[in-house]
Amino acid sequence: MSDADTTDDPGDLRTPIVAVLGHVDHGKTSLLDKIRGSAVIEGEAGAITQHIGATAVPLDTVSEVAGSLVDPTEFDLPGLLFIDTPGHHSFSTLRSRGGALADIAILVVDVNDGFQPQTEEAVRILKDTGTPFVVAANKVDTTPGWNPNPDSPIQQTYEAQSDRARSDLDEALYELIGEMSDHGFSSDLYWRVQNFQKNVGVIPVSAETGEGVPDLLTVLMGLAQRYMKAEMEVDVAGPGAGTVLEVKDEQGFGKTVDVILYDGTVRSGDTVVVGAQNDPIVTEVRALLKPRELAEIRTEKRFDDVDSMQAAAGLKIAAPDLDDAMPGAPVRVVGDRSVEEVVAEVEAELAEVAVETEEEGVVVKADTLGSLEALVNALEEAEIPVMSAEVGDVAPRDVAMATTVDEDKHHVLLGFNVDVLPAAAEKAENEDVRIFDSDVIYQLVEDYEAFVEERERAQK
Ligand code: GDP
Repeated sequence: MSDADTTDDPGDLRTPIVAVLGHVDHGKTSLLDKIRGSAVIEGEAGAITQHIGATAVPLDTVSEVAGSLVDPTEFDLPGLLFIDTPGHHSFSTLRSRGGALADIAILVVDVNDGFQPQTEEAVRILKDTGTPFVVAANKVDTTPGWNPNPDSPIQQTYEAQSDRARSDLDEALYELIGEMSDHGFSSDLYWRVQNFQKNVGVIPVSAETGEGVPDLLTVLMGLAQRYMKAEMEVDVAGPGAGTVLEVKDEQGFGKTVDVILYDGTVRSGDTVVVGAQNDPIVTEVRALLKPRELAEIRTEKRFDDVDSMQAAAGLKIAAPDLDDAMPGAPVRVVGDRSVEEVVAEVEAELAEVAVETEEEGVVVKADTLGSLEALVNALEEAEIPVMSAEVGDVAPRDVAMATTVDEDKHHVLLGFNVDVLPAAAEKAENEDVRIFDSDVIYQLVEDYEAFVEERERAQK
């Protein structure tokens, strides 16, 4: 079948959604840039498509980048859609019903630096969500005595290194494999892995020289094609389903939502239900926006209006009444169903992440629904009771809430990736409420535990 025959067929395979995770400075952004860059250099015109919040690399381009490694006739997936915002933070934001929205993930680890706090956190989140992933052992070019060869598969380059360089790199790689094993994952260099569902493949790469990037794309395609195909079988012509990535003011459009669409189609004029802080929003799509081609950005106009978008895609929806839309919340096209039915579905999905609150405990704020869920899970694991958990910045009323805990207990507020409003900080100071904020979940857990320990020691 030609492309034209397949694009609108119900039951088509949609593009797998790929997220990039890892510790700060380990090379997530560079690796994404390299993937995009290689795709542009190797591919014909239209080699990649820029979406809102994501980049699509079509199968033809993947196979051109991967050279002899990928035979395009072996695949019936359309390509790969990379989420542009790297980090476990956007990964947690992008939840879908029952788990992660990303189908597969790349865990980037700097071979010089090994596992670091955000690597640990990313691994835990990947484990909790059951997301298949590969490890990109990045910056292999910095190995002393490394002899680069961007034109050959990384296994060959690795094997062609001097004994000295190989043993240096091996030391780092085996430490990494050991860390993975401490987290309950059996992993190995990717060319030794038979079953990528059972064993996590480790791919030596360099976001600098591009070595290993073709291999990485190959393994991702294989992983999606072999083990995840069921998830890609969607009715792309059916009513759209997606997740809010961001809520943004956009000149000329008012409040808009950036959405990653993982199922079906959204059309201009569609009635949609969007998850919000309070009741779900029911509204009508006024415009569907995608980024303009780079060459056209000379004018003020940054977006193109389109009539419809089909999964998987990243797009911006302009519609009335989006002010309370919540990052991480579901978006559903109503289609042939009743508005009530779809509202109930969105409510049910939001209830899935709603927190079982205790009468007394910590007050929790996070910037998105997904990160709130991840934080509350971590607190539960550490047996720290949670009194309330909401999306949003830390406001005075959150501080007031924290003070309602019994006096002999601790008045603590934990904020993940949020701002503490000045009035809230002042109120907390006056009323002896302790606020911890961080963008590392386990830091918050550790800070809280250290604080409680110290207070209890002082009370004795
Ligand atoms: P992020 O915070 O994980 O997104 O990391 P960045 O992509 O911003 O990379 C952090 C720094 O490491 C930057 O200075 C990059 O140029 C550098 N870097 C990233 N990947 C590589 C690599 O493969 N080799 C070398 N030599 N430097 C790299």
